[in-house]
Amino acid sequence: MKSRLLVRPLLFSLLLAFAAPPSLRAEGLPDLGETSQADLSPAMERRVGEEAMNEIRRDPAWLGDPEVNAYLNRLGNRLAAQIEGSPQSFELFALHDMTLNAFAMPGGFIGVHTGLILAAETESELASVLAHEISHVTQHHLARLINKSGQGQVASLVALAVAVLAARSNPDAAVGVAMAGQAAGIQNQLNYSRDFEREADRIGLGLLERSGYDIRGMENFFGRMQKFGRLYESNAPVYLRTHPLTTERLADIGNRIQGRRYKQVPDSLEFQLVKAKLRAAEGSAQDAVIEFKSRLADRKFSGSELAVRYGLARALMRSGNLPASEQQIDELRRLKAHSPMVETLAAELRLKQNDTAGAVKILRAAYAQYPQERGVVYGLVDALLMAHQPAEALRVTNDDLLSYPSDATLYALQARIYAALGQRLQQHRAQAENYALEGRLGEAIEQLELGQKAGDGSFYEQSQVDARLRELRQRLEEEKKLAKQK
Ligand SMILES: [Zn+2]
Repeated sequence: MKSRLLVRPLLFSLLLAFAAPPSLRAEGLPDLGETSQADLSPAMERRVGEEAMNEIRRDPAWLGDPEVNAYLNRLGNRLAAQIEGSPQSFELFALHDMTLNAFAMPGGFIGVHTGLILAAETESELASVLAHEISHVTQHHLARLINKSGQGQVASLVALAVAVLAARSNPDAAVGVAMAGQAAGIQNQLNYSRDFEREADRIGLGLLERSGYDIRGMENFFGRMQKFGRLYESNAPVYLRTHPLTTERLADIGNRIQGRRYKQVPDSLEFQLVKAKLRAAEGSAQDAVIEFKSRLADRKFSGSELAVRYGLARALMRSGNLPASEQQIDELRRLKAHSPMVETLAAELRLKQNDTAGAVKILRAAYAQYPQERGVVYGLVDALLMAHQPAEALRVTNDDLLSYPSDATLYALQARIYAALGQRLQQHRAQAENYALEGRLGEAIEQLELGQKAGDGSFYEQSQVDARLRELRQRLEEEKKLAKQK
């Protein structure tokens, strides 16, 4: 997977490019020349991050697994809760990529490669990388880096970034090669400096300790990465290129840890299940089955038996051996595995056997028990649609939106439900809300315009669409004005 190794640093440089502070100034204030972190309002940071997210969500590597993402967010926000001063919200997401990498973007978006999750031997190790990334964000290292590099022209940086992304899906394009060269140049200038690394380690260690993880996780994980980097010099983890890891830095982490009382922190079941899910999906299904079976036979669980059986059930399902997969589900029930991830797997297995009623039954019970789990509610709506019960699916999404009004995926599901019900105005309206929540205002407006023309809504629904359209058009105007400022 050579191309991945190439592509990732490009993406990283793009993200840094997006981080260029547009140097917004309040009217009436003198121009101080150089931009500073204070020039980038939190709203603008968020906007820049959302721009980049729009591209990332369309990337083939986008995993979009609500269970993996929910887990990463729980872990990330447990760490972020320990930030001193003004709290900031983070959005973490997984990319399907076996290279070791994680990266932070302005606005608190943090991407984690599946390869990095699988390489973490303990939850504290994974937490230590996330704590380090979160600290880059809270210390505004990206913005400070951009200032130093003198890449001031926001418009050209954004254009370059978009071109690089466009070239990613078509690497042969000449423009791609040219842009890649430029982006690599920026990349070289924008690697985090040793000072930033030290600061992110120091602050990250604090977050790690206060949120109850084993602070040795950081030393262990970075130590292993360094060893790996030495072994495979040209193939060193991408992470090491953007986060230079020196012996000095490792010694610094070691010094901070020294003398602390040893703390055994057990891994959460969720961490183990997420790893098993990712492992079961990797490589050939047959190899995954063999690996989980041998772990089970050796009783080498490196975690819990539940996670190994869960991984085996997933790998067996993937290999098409549905009865054997069902057997593992029975074992999990016998072992009293309490996790929404076991329920969604059991339902998925029912659906594979065309038992939509069985899947709906499992997911209904799971939804009653774990109403906060996004994977469960999405699965339930999906199963209801497959069982040709769109009206019931609509009731579930409407109920759930009361608790989660900014869940973009729920609106995408609603658009599918309304399509099944043959309600076109409502379908476009739901799709518009999905786009609006993802920061795709232009497309949201298009959908509402289509909704206006659908002609199958009540007078009340029509005027709702008109009002929302006015609102979003105004928001788009404001954003255009903001983007022009320099
Ligand atoms: Zn770093």
